[in-house]
Amino acid sequence: MAQETPRCIFCAIVRGEIPASIVAETDSVLAFMDIQPVNPGHVLVIPKSHATYLADLDSRVGEEIFRLAMRVADGLRRSGIRCEGVNLFLADGFAAGQEVFHVHLHVFPRFEGDGFGLRFGPKYGAHPPREELERIAGSIKASMR
Ligand code: AMP
Ligand code: ZN
Repeated sequence: MAQETPRCIFCAIVRGEIPASIVAETDSVLAFMDIQPVNPGHVLVIPKSHATYLADLDSRVGEEIFRLAMRVADGLRRSGIRCEGVNLFLADGFAAGQEVFHVHLHVFPRFEGDGFGLRFGPKYGAHPPREELERIAGSIKASMR
């Protein structure tokens, strides 16, 4: 039984309560068109069972999301929609730009001159010393489950 959150807009799409243009689905995952596309062909891939953040997502469903996103990306490239490249993007948390708090992986076509871009912060560019990379790698490694 899918966990549901009544006021979640993506849960409402899963339940068929609000319109969505469905691209593909599996038992646990749904792909549909984003209503405010970066470029034509912008698709969102979501778990059917509500998960607010990546940390709430069953890893097998995460695998399923990525698998379906790969198929969508392949379909995009073969569809005739303008697609010179593909971006996969997932905003996990408010600070990362998440606006809808139901996990979703963006899959959207890119082409030269489309105007989309990510802006780097002022400290971007310098290569930190190797010791710092090693220290941070160690912290992450020690915290992984
Ligand atoms: P994010 O900033 O990563 O949370 O992205 C949320 C995305 O959901 C945006 O690209 C919105 O355009 C999209 N979105 C919001 N409501 C809907 C909806 N009802 N149907 C399809 N896409 C939606
Ligand atoms: Zn939801």
